[in-house]
Amino acid sequence: MKKIGVLTSGGDSPGMNAAIRAVVRTAIFHELEVVGIRHGYAGLMNGDFLPMDRSSVADIIHRGGTILLSARSEEFKTLEGRKKAYQKLQDEGIEGLVVIGGDGSFRGAKKLAEEFDFPVIGVPATIDNDIPCTDYSIGFDTAMNTVIDAINKIRDTATSHERTFVVETMGRHAGFLTLMSGLAGGAESILIPEMPFDIDDVIEKLKHGYARGKLHSIILVAEGIGDDFKTNRDINESKAFAIGKIIQEKTGFETRVIILGHLQRGGSPTALDRILASRLGAKAVELLLAGEKGKMVGIIHDEVKAFDIEYALNQKKELNEDIYHLAHILSL
Ligand code: ADP
Repeated sequence: MKKIGVLTSGGDSPGMNAAIRAVVRTAIFHELEVVGIRHGYAGLMNGDFLPMDRSSVADIIHRGGTILLSARSEEFKTLEGRKKAYQKLQDEGIEGLVVIGGDGSFRGAKKLAEEFDFPVIGVPATIDNDIPCTDYSIGFDTAMNTVIDAINKIRDTATSHERTFVVETMGRHAGFLTLMSGLAGGAESILIPEMPFDIDDVIEKLKHGYARGKLHSIILVAEGIGDDFKTNRDINESKAFAIGKIIQEKTGFETRVIILGHLQRGGSPTALDRILASRLGAKAVELLLAGEKGKMVGIIHDEVKAFDIEYALNQKKELNEDIYHLAHILSL
């Protein structure tokens, strides 16, 4: 193998740049040429290529976002689109590809590997941490710290005004970010898609807290909680707003709602994310050199490992319910 490509795809996450840096510098260390592919799979289909050297990735380990830019592409979901992408790889002489992204990007990577017998390795990067076969994905730790920072600030003003705050975090299908940030941030209640809840229990807990002198409450809500709370997204009302309304109506407590939104995806990556990205990015290149294809890298008990993407995509990453119950007990 002489030349490899690297791209970032799907939702961005802090630490993607550190992963790109690790891929580029490991490849150069092993005397490979590296091509950066801009705009994810869309850029791959269009041949949006950028030759990279050591200095192309200088001064980026601490930057959020991705210097290669990310994108979503419907065309790549079609066989025609993927044929186009494969042709561009052939034309450019790229013999292996590292895809840094989430589970959607991995689905695309798996198809490219299977349909064209092309060496592709996936590096898990998503703040959702919902990719199986890895304890952590790149960006999760930074996003948790962002949420905690937000909670700390909200708590200050919540206390001053004796208010209840409903804080919506990202997580359409997975509650890992919400749960772990809620535990670390001392949220009074944590509502996530994986765990059914009764809004009356949440309200009882809230009333109980105020009765024993609490000055504020923070209720952390993942954006993808149960459909009972689905309201009209067209008028920009999220489930968090619906919950806020119910709480205010049923308790009379002054309640405010905050949607943290995309700020959770930004920021300088934490030390843990930079280290994870460096280790996983380097391993991806080593796997390509070893002739592997259709694999993802992951970290399990602090060991970097490789798994078939197909196997990984058929697993479901389970939430640790003990942590959910612990967060509840510690916030009583
Ligand atoms: P993420 O990687 O963050 O989960 P997406 O789900 O948006 O983000 O996926 C990123 C891109 O991966 C999509 O825009 C599409 O080009 C590609 N992709 C997703 N699912 C598939 C699929 N089933 N087959 C082929 N390509 C896919």
